[in-house]
Amino acid sequence: MRIDIITIFPGFFDTVLACSIVGRARRAGIVQIQCHDLRDYTTDAHRTVDDTPYGGGAGMVMKPEPFYRAVREVLGDEKAPVILLTPQGELFTQAKAMQLAAQERLVLLCGHYEGVDERVRQTVVTDEISIGDYVLTGGEPAAVVVIDAIVRLLPGATGNEQSPMDESFSTGLLEYPHYTRPSEFQGLKVPEVLLTGNHKQICRWRRRQALKRTLQRRPDLLGQAELTKEDHELLREIWQEMQDDRRGE
Ligand code: SAM
Repeated sequence: MRIDIITIFPGFFDTVLACSIVGRARRAGIVQIQCHDLRDYTTDAHRTVDDTPYGGGAGMVMKPEPFYRAVREVLGDEKAPVILLTPQGELFTQAKAMQLAAQERLVLLCGHYEGVDERVRQTVVTDEISIGDYVLTGGEPAAVVVIDAIVRLLPGATGNEQSPMDESFSTGLLEYPHYTRPSEFQGLKVPEVLLTGNHKQICRWRRRQALKRTLQRRPDLLGQAELTKEDHELLREIWQEMQDDRRGE
């Protein structure tokens, strides 16, 4: 996969995209990530990327020409999703990460100031993504979030093909709780079943915990998750337990 980032702060990505799974995937040639300085696509001596808003008001707006030129030059004759990071975009989810991980190429556009001239969206942008209902100073942290979520899904990136598929959201549920050594910490013991080596029981315990977590924290996900008859029975049991606990309080 190849990802091109168009930004006024290419240096922002130097460390963050050199570390951990993304850094390893880059070194292994699983993903190629290229940063392009938006100012290189300006034509004036001051390398201007912003201007005052038509209609007045506070702040500056990013000009359309540098983004347009950058996307055209970076892509050449190739076609690829061109994603504008914006708080007004589609909310980024694991499902969207999976969909984008299937692409061969992506271009990410990072805005700043009051945002990007509307005509960038109208001419070169194919997708608009928001990483959450809050406003960042610039699109760079959002681009890192999107890239990280995508790259860990690429074959060979995590070194454990099963791992991303078992995680929260991939199964439609939140993941079960994890434990490692020591078996007792601050008086808290690791659940007995995890020490038995009985994989069938462990699997059932994990599924039950995933259902419980999801019911307690994100019941909205249950409507979309693929649930078996046994899952429904477990959910009824968990629901009953929760009611009993509440009554006992
Ligand atoms: N004035 C804009 C508005 O109210 O919608 C916000 C502009 S914000 C200060 C500057 C840039 O940060 C945006 O152009 C976008 O690239 C990025 N950004 C801010 N919040 C974001 C979010 N939640 N998701 C993705 N990008 C975001």
